[in-house]
Amino acid sequence: MIYAANFKTNQTRKSTRQYIEELNVKLCTKDVRDKIYIFPPFTALDNYEGNFTIGAQNAYPVHNGAFTGEIGVEQLDEFGIKTILIGHSERREYMAETQEKVAQKCAFFQAQGFEIIYCIGEPLSIREKGFEPVMEYLLAQFEGIDIHYDKLVVAYEPIWAIGTGRSATAEEISATHSALKKVINDTPLLYGGSVKPANIKEITSIAGVDGVLVGSASLDADSFSQMVLS
Ligand code: PEP
Repeated sequence: MIYAANFKTNQTRKSTRQYIEELNVKLCTKDVRDKIYIFPPFTALDNYEGNFTIGAQNAYPVHNGAFTGEIGVEQLDEFGIKTILIGHSERREYMAETQEKVAQKCAFFQAQGFEIIYCIGEPLSIREKGFEPVMEYLLAQFEGIDIHYDKLVVAYEPIWAIGTGRSATAEEISATHSALKKVINDTPLLYGGSVKPANIKEITSIAGVDGVLVGSASLDADSFSQMVLS
């Protein structure tokens, strides 16, 4: 299983260090063979020790240059970061990242050999129209993406389930994942959207779910480690 923690605009450098110390203590009691990713904010990126991979929540598709407010590969290299989250619905919506921009970013970081956690997900208005419109919407988010890139992980995150406390139902996850798997084949597929200790077991036992991407419930090291150890 893959467990990914997305801190978004939460945590500081100090609290991230404390979080990682706590996580290391909690996870050392078990033989964790799962893959763990942590995506802290930029200011907390560092070379941390532990059984996890640190990734960037975002970056600009350049090595360096005149792109005020952005960071590129040079800044990520300083901390050995080779994993990036791309296509999160918050970036698509609030930062106006179009499919074209998202695809360009994927192509650039793929060329740099990065591991890419690529997010897709539909809004509630589409989910309410039924399964076919949902799949049409999701498949359009593969436009320009090399879905067979060997360092790609796809995260299905229905927008209406993100940060709302309302996860998709097991039936919705199962049907959507099985349809997505027919397209992406062996590419790992995560579910994200209000995953928490109370529903982790149900979600990770669904066929076609290879792991989870967690926002709110990952902010507390105890809650995240409970999920990893579930
Ligand atoms: C996310 O934003 O990737 C996410 C899954 O958030 P939450 O767990 O808070 O729904």
